[in-house]
Amino acid sequence: MQENVIKLKDLLSTPKRIVITTHKGPDGDAIGSSLAMLHFLNKLGHDTTVITPNAYADFLHWMPANKDVLIYEENEKKAQETTSSADLIFLLDFSNIMRISDFANTVNQANAIKILIDHHQNPDMSIADIIFSDTQACSTSQLVYEIISAMNFNNHIDKNIAECLYVGIMTDTGSFKYSSTSAKTHEIIANLIKRGADNAKIHDLIYDNSSANRIKLLGYCLNNKLLLYPENNSAIISLTAEELEKFKFQNGDTEGFVNYPLAIKGIRFATFITEKEGIVKLSLRSKGNFKVNEIADTYFNGGGHMNASGGISQLSINETIKTVEMIINKFKKELTNTN
Ligand code: 5GP
Ligand code: MN
Repeated sequence: MQENVIKLKDLLSTPKRIVITTHKGPDGDAIGSSLAMLHFLNKLGHDTTVITPNAYADFLHWMPANKDVLIYEENEKKAQETTSSADLIFLLDFSNIMRISDFANTVNQANAIKILIDHHQNPDMSIADIIFSDTQACSTSQLVYEIISAMNFNNHIDKNIAECLYVGIMTDTGSFKYSSTSAKTHEIIANLIKRGADNAKIHDLIYDNSSANRIKLLGYCLNNKLLLYPENNSAIISLTAEELEKFKFQNGDTEGFVNYPLAIKGIRFATFITEKEGIVKLSLRSKGNFKVNEIADTYFNGGGHMNASGGISQLSINETIKTVEMIINKFKKELTNTN
């Protein structure tokens, strides 16, 4: 880490053109770490652009400098031009180039020096020239804070940077409740509040800012679409494209739905299945030591963290439910062994 910090500080000692990118379907940590990095680098005098592979949820749009984010899917030409003329490219919150989808070609062809900052398992070491990977870290935003600190640039952390990092840490720790939340996480959060992050405002803007349709869709999922397998401590929720349409689905509306079954006593494994743009996508969550990233990797061409992963299915929604039921039965022993 220290050696990489020195290399990075040296690279940042003269003005550069910089691109920051993050994974497709960016979440709070992806956007939070990217925008925090943008504010920090611009403060050092660099010319920085954040490029996301696709659009993201409305509840992240209040974040400072959100309006300057370039969306690859909506503006390919500009994204390609900006990337090909960059001196440095930061890759944040993903460990495999496939996760930036079609934007990967542009990034692969760029001559820039690439820097990865990430907390996912099994990083592809060929993805970047400088790699900051800590799979124990609760969030990429926490890593960004630690790197800024290690470069002795703590004094540069202003309200904008603090609020972006707060969003990333808060959302990736489920509001500081997952086991990845450490004493260090709370110390960092305390410093972010000291540096101007308005914590109550941020919780409100992220969690209490839903459309009525989103809350009704959640009610529909829990009331009509929840499949429970109490003998296997498992649950499945699925939504078809028609159901999403009925509730006027907007990007990000189903974010967090997968966690609700885990609030039921005894449930340790939850799967949320949706069909979007013809693709069947799965979100997997667990409590304890049931490794959903291994399930995602083996059955759904995906991956992620031990307790939070995702992937895709080539089958229909109904067949995908059957596959998950097969998995639930196959792993009954692991799912019911609570030691
Ligand atoms: P979510 O369920 O919120 O979409 O994703 C949870 C986590 O699973 C993400 O933070 C990411 O680590 C991982 N993940 C989600 N989808 C995919 C995927 O298609 N491929 C891989 N490798 N990981 C994924
Ligand atoms: Mn993350």
